[in-house]
Amino acid sequence: MSSPVVGRFAPTPSGFLHPGNLLCAMLAYLSVRSRGGQCLLRIEDLDKARCPEHLTRQCLSDLDYLGFRWDGLVLYQSERTKHYEQAFHRLIKTGRVYPCFCSRAQLHVSQAPNRGDTVYVYPGTCRNLTPEQVHQKAAVKQPAYRLHVPDETVTVSDRMQGRYTSCLSNNPGDFILRRADHVYAYHLAVVVDDAESGITEVVRGMDILSATPCQIYLQKLLDYPTPEYTHIPLLVDAHGARLAKRNQAVSLAFLSKRHTRDEITGMLAFAAGLIPEVYPCTLEALIPIFSWSNVPNTDLQLPQAFLTE
Ligand SMILES: [Zn+2]
Repeated sequence: MSSPVVGRFAPTPSGFLHPGNLLCAMLAYLSVRSRGGQCLLRIEDLDKARCPEHLTRQCLSDLDYLGFRWDGLVLYQSERTKHYEQAFHRLIKTGRVYPCFCSRAQLHVSQAPNRGDTVYVYPGTCRNLTPEQVHQKAAVKQPAYRLHVPDETVTVSDRMQGRYTSCLSNNPGDFILRRADHVYAYHLAVVVDDAESGITEVVRGMDILSATPCQIYLQKLLDYPTPEYTHIPLLVDAHGARLAKRNQAVSLAFLSKRHTRDEITGMLAFAAGLIPEVYPCTLEALIPIFSWSNVPNTDLQLPQAFLTE
C-alpha cells in the first residue's frame, strides 16, 4: 500500500484572503482530496503584530464558507515556538549558525543599488567575528541568528515548473533563522511544520519558488524528508496585468454580496482551468474531476467580478 498523501494550505492572515490565496487553497485541497489524501490548514501567524486576531477569524470563516473541510486541528505558528526552538538548537550543533549584529541601516547600505528583483544577499559581515567581538557586541545589542550556507547548488523538482536550480550562496546567502526580537524566521518555521505534520506535498504560489532551495537545504540539515513541490502560476487581471497589489482585487465579503457561493467557486475553478466554462459548482463536485494536467502553466486570468474596476 502506498503511503497517504498529505497536503496543506498555509495562509498568512496579515490581510484578507485575496483571490490568489483562494485559488491556491483550492488547488492544494483538490490535489490531495482527488487522491483520497488529507489536507491540513496551518495559520502562518508567526509575526503576531502583523496578524491580528480578527483577520485570522475572517480567514477561517472565508475558507469555511467556500466549503473547505480540513483534516485534524488547525495549526497556529504563533503557538509552536517551542518546536522551532528545538530545531534551532539542532542547527546550532551543526556549527553553521552565527549571531548577526547588523542594524537595518547597515544592511541597507550594503545592498547594491539597481539590483531590481534580485534577491538580497547578506555580505557576511558578522560571519567571522571572534568570541570577544561577539561578547562585546552582545552587551549592547540583541543579535539575529543566521545560517552560514555553503557554496552548493540545490535543485527543486517542481511538478509544474520542472527543474529549478540555484546556488545557496547567491540565493539566499546566509539567511536569518531567528530575528533579534526572538521571532523565528519563516523558512525555519515552514520546514519544521511541514516535517512534523507529515506533509508529503506542498502547493503554493510561484513567488515562493526561489525560496525553496534554502528550505530544501534546511530539510537536509534537520534530517527531514523533502515534500513534492508544485508552484502554481500567478493570477493576472482581465488585461493580463499582474495583481501586484491586493487592493486591485476584491474581498470574498464583497463578492458574496453579489454572487452565490457556488458562482464564486465556479469562477475560481474556471480561472484555474478546472472547468471549461464558468458555471456554479461546489468544491466537493470538483474533487472527482480534478487533474493537474488541466491547470495551465501560464498566468491564470482572474474573472472580472473579482476586480475593483
Ligand atoms: Zn551582520
